[in-house]
Amino acid sequence: MSDEALRALERAFEESHAPADEAAWLAARERAGRLERSRLELAAFCGHKAARLALGAAAPREEPDIRKWCHALDRYGLEACVRAAHAAALNVVQLWAERPDPAVAYLGEASPGEQLAAVQEWIECPCERHVEEALRTLPVSRGGITSEHGGHAWTFAHDAAGDAVLTIRRPSFVWNTLLNAALARGRALVDPSLADRAHAMVREVASAALVAWALG
Ligand SMILES: [Zn+2]
Repeated sequence: MSDEALRALERAFEESHAPADEAAWLAARERAGRLERSRLELAAFCGHKAARLALGAAAPREEPDIRKWCHALDRYGLEACVRAAHAAALNVVQLWAERPDPAVAYLGEASPGEQLAAVQEWIECPCERHVEEALRTLPVSRGGITSEHGGHAWTFAHDAAGDAVLTIRRPSFVWNTLLNAALARGRALVDPSLADRAHAMVREVASAALVAWALG
């Protein structure tokens, strides 16, 4: 397919905003070798409507359980896991960035924001030096968080940032990250009815980041 034909499909989608038009454009990009099949599948796995339409019966099965969804991300590679973890942790860290718990001192260790900046650097350049620089931001003493802060939402956000760093070495930590992000979001421990909503919100944030990367 020519560049011109691809652009015509893109324009049609931009005008209609219809998932069917976006699906036609995505499928054409994939056939033309401009969009990797695995990226299209990842977007579909994240629930992107047009990606699911483009793949039809070949679309990956939707996974309602967030823990299984996290573990299945492994199929799409380490970068996908790290990107999902980074997006989820950043979302909750930003919630408290302007009003951190003053009782939490970092004692000279990296703040969650600094940890996530190191993860972002690895995403942009996943070399061994950036792995080591990210791992060096992990707190030795849990950043001065003591048991009196246990259960505090900020503590969970802090843990989510550390888990996002660990995801670089162990992709299964994307689940730990999303779980802590959800706990930070919903204080889901004290009110179990909030857990499902918090999980859905965190998963939405991670999915949006993955779709933007996969189809971008
Ligand atoms: Zn690097």
